[in-house]
Amino acid sequence: MQGAVLYGPRDVRIEQRNEPTIVKPTDAIIRMAATCICGSDLWPYRGIARVDQPTPFGHEYCGVVEEIGSAVAKVKPGQFVVGSFFASDNTCPICKAGYQTSCVHRELVGGAQAGRLRVPLADGTLVATPGMPPDDLVPSLLAASDVLGTGWFAADAANVKHGKTVVVVGDGAVGLLGVLSAKQMGAGRIIAMSRHEARQKLAREFGATDIVTERGDEGVARVKELTEGLGAESVLECVGTQESMSQAIRSARPGGYVSYVGVPHGVQLDGTGLFFSHVHLHGGPAPVRRYLPQLIELIWNRKIAPGKVFDLTLPLAQVAEGYRAMDERRAIKTLLRP
Ligand SMILES: [Zn+2]
Repeated sequence: MQGAVLYGPRDVRIEQRNEPTIVKPTDAIIRMAATCICGSDLWPYRGIARVDQPTPFGHEYCGVVEEIGSAVAKVKPGQFVVGSFFASDNTCPICKAGYQTSCVHRELVGGAQAGRLRVPLADGTLVATPGMPPDDLVPSLLAASDVLGTGWFAADAANVKHGKTVVVVGDGAVGLLGVLSAKQMGAGRIIAMSRHEARQKLAREFGATDIVTERGDEGVARVKELTEGLGAESVLECVGTQESMSQAIRSARPGGYVSYVGVPHGVQLDGTGLFFSHVHLHGGPAPVRRYLPQLIELIWNRKIAPGKVFDLTLPLAQVAEGYRAMDERRAIKTLLRP
């Protein structure tokens, strides 16, 4: 089968790879309906995170179960399923508390930018849809695998509640779906920080009430202006840089909540500044599995359309162009059809 392999900075290739097989009795093999490129894939693509050897890439997936191991009981061949980028047993104490991405048995699901995929811990990891989805729902179901689940966790971890004022730092796919999630949770006001016209438009469509184009001190000042000098009750940090994290913490009011879901690169927090900020901090790799049943239901019933973040669709064979388009910010997110 064909699959994407990252060799080094800006060098992603489509290659002939071995078909995945059942390795453990808890595995399932799925045929991918669609896969995509994640904002977090851009860190190694840009050489900011190191890749030491050619690595099969991709971790977002949905598709049809083709084969299951002998110990798999809940998932059946022929079902359409969505799973998260960390496989989890969904039974350990950490999973039961809703933190499946820290499952004591967790395994990273990699190499999803391919025609077929091996998913470990299938019973705990995969959630089946009510039936075979119509083709137009596939992008939204794929979004649930990571970006939507991550945006949803960002809003949940930032304690977004009915009528609250929310700031979203970052206008990538996760930030935009953080806006959608905050709207679903009943936020009264959603301030999206973005300088990019197409992304501002989508943010508004997803529920943003205000757009702030300023950054740094000016961005913080603008948020304060919009919130009677107080700052927001909930701030979602969806980038992972020093600037965005600092922006997020300083945009929250004392007693407010800051969530952080962007993979941090070089972020350092000043203890004194944090101490006097009086904010709650909660983040990490989103436990997407916790939210999957609810998100699939919302998508299935067409209450939300997170698939709108895919503004470029390419055949898997053109994966390199998909990366380039996201790297150059020509595309918000690239969907790949195997
Ligand atoms: Zn677990």
